[in-house]
Amino acid sequence: MKLKGDPSTSRAINRRLILNLLRQEGPKSRAEIATITGLSPAAVTFVIGDLLAEGHVSEGKTIAGVSGRRPIPVEINYASGLAIGFKLMVGAVECVVTDLATNPLASRRLALSDRAPETVVQTLADAVPALVQSAGRPKARLAGIGISMPGVIDNAQAICVRSHRFNWDNVPLAQMLAQKVKTSVWLEDDTNAYAIAQQLFGLGRQYRNMAVLAIGVGIGCAIIIDGRLYRGANGAAGKFGHTLYEEHGRPCECGKRGCLMGYFSHPAILQTWRAATGRDETDGLQDMLEALGKGDETAVAILRAAGIGIGKSLANLVNVIDPEVVVIGGEAVSFGEALLAPLRAAMGAHTFRAPSPLLPDWEDNSWARGAAALVTQKLFDFEMSGGTAGGTEIVESAAASTRHTRLGNASAT
Ligand SMILES: [Zn+2]
Repeated sequence: MKLKGDPSTSRAINRRLILNLLRQEGPKSRAEIATITGLSPAAVTFVIGDLLAEGHVSEGKTIAGVSGRRPIPVEINYASGLAIGFKLMVGAVECVVTDLATNPLASRRLALSDRAPETVVQTLADAVPALVQSAGRPKARLAGIGISMPGVIDNAQAICVRSHRFNWDNVPLAQMLAQKVKTSVWLEDDTNAYAIAQQLFGLGRQYRNMAVLAIGVGIGCAIIIDGRLYRGANGAAGKFGHTLYEEHGRPCECGKRGCLMGYFSHPAILQTWRAATGRDETDGLQDMLEALGKGDETAVAILRAAGIGIGKSLANLVNVIDPEVVVIGGEAVSFGEALLAPLRAAMGAHTFRAPSPLLPDWEDNSWARGAAALVTQKLFDFEMSGGTAGGTEIVESAAASTRHTRLGNASAT
């Protein structure tokens, strides 16, 4: 544990505080930063000087007002770098190249011929030069690569501890790729990465406590508590899809039976619909959406059941963690209100207090953007301070960090 008075710690805290303020509120002058954070003007000037030298922030244009020069705004230099996000799925990889605010500049989908780690790493490494090229930003440098995948991830070591879908145990995927591409690589569980993107630049920007539910091939629910992603003791928190839905029910990829995802993941919903309507195995999301559009009662009933099933489970989670909001994303949000209305109603019927508002994420590319957000999070050191703390809390933490500095200085003399 670092000492409270360690100047490098205070400096790191001040830096994180200022960067997060600029991320949440946009360009601000040094004087405004000092006022909002409670840091001294000297401390702000010092940190901004560092950030300018590193190219992480830039100075905007001074606007000449009637009463003279206005202060120079400082803003995060999101255009200075590129981030690549890879979202691994069995059989394919979603790739996106973004600026440092995770705005997509180009994307593509690659086929994965098999699940061997070596094949996956080679496929990703081969794609990097073309992705950088396709961004069309010759002056921007590649800041790093984020990989998201389903599984239990040791975030600190960047190792995939276990992935049922890839059948991997202890694969040091980030290190394997970094050796080939000579840039920083980060690895994260796909739902966690998605939640980080929502927290930094998406629907969760204003919240410190939230659940981020993703209904895709699996069902995951990342949990943000007090501005921090909660990973659990073994990196296995948020495996919401493996909570019990039906005892002795359908077999699940995890080896157990009756898990929620066996019934209401995106593929499970489609499978239920195909079985009920005698549709061909090749019929997918578009076909079900089309049927839904024509008022297919079977599709409506299946989505209602899925909404109720997920909503009841979600109510249990909400009762335990009390989130401000629940962000909901993943392929299944395409079903829209046919799924979300019964989900909202079922959750609302079973929560202890008023249910947390459901915020659907309609964006495409969200999964891969989540992977790219891993780069931005590390580069700007946004971790540990997600969500808007609100004026009071920022001032408090700033005051606390200033106090630590002073105490440190006092004890050092
Ligand atoms: Zn399971």
